[in-house]
Amino acid sequence: MKLTFLGTRGEIEKRTRRHRMHTSLMVSYRSVNVMIDCGLDWLGKFERLHPSAIVLTHAHPDHAWGLKHGAPCPVYAPQKTWQELQHYPIEDRHVIDERTPTKICGITFEAFAVEHSILSPAVGYRVSVGRGRIFYAPDLIFIHDRQDALKGVQIYIGDGATVTRSFIRRRGKALIGHSPVRTQLTWCEKEGVPRAIITHCGSEIVASDERKLSAKLRAIAAERDVDVRLAYDGMKQEL
Ligand SMILES: [Zn+2]
Ligand SMILES: [Zn+2]
Repeated sequence: MKLTFLGTRGEIEKRTRRHRMHTSLMVSYRSVNVMIDCGLDWLGKFERLHPSAIVLTHAHPDHAWGLKHGAPCPVYAPQKTWQELQHYPIEDRHVIDERTPTKICGITFEAFAVEHSILSPAVGYRVSVGRGRIFYAPDLIFIHDRQDALKGVQIYIGDGATVTRSFIRRRGKALIGHSPVRTQLTWCEKEGVPRAIITHCGSEIVASDERKLSAKLRAIAAERDVDVRLAYDGMKQEL
């Protein structure tokens, strides 16, 4: 399995050379390339990547609005995401049911509900092919079935909207927002995931001296026996 971090910018104003494009991951295996998420930055641009298929985590602008004018390939998303995108001119639509491993061009995707937004319910994906197994959740407060989601995972790819501060707000009984990287590293420790890569970078990362911040994060991760890296646009990873 080969991973390419096409974009690593969260829903923020600022953009830099390292974090120019909305968060998106290309999962490649042999000649297949499946793109996870296609935010507004990718509108009119993602076609040149020739994805075999596109899979969506949720309908927020930084994850789905690049598909406003449709897509030249099949698009997979949970039913709740399709409800929000029903007016998009996407011809080849597929529904992904939660907790149902689904083969997309030979790569297995299993959607897990994550807490993040009331209006745009989100999922994270457990992705496996060949010897590789990852969990990808760019926006989340927590994973509902965390133990199942992270079991045997080699790399957890998580939400960098905030590093140590909490971005969690209460709306009635529900919670919306993002959990800090620190908390996500604790999940990795608890579930025995050895490595984490942080994407969907918020201003705390994008506006920082990344070398210093990386060192700080590595120290937080080392206390938890986890290896951590900050993703940047174009970063590749094989497993
Ligand atoms: Zn987002
Ligand atoms: Zn979101």
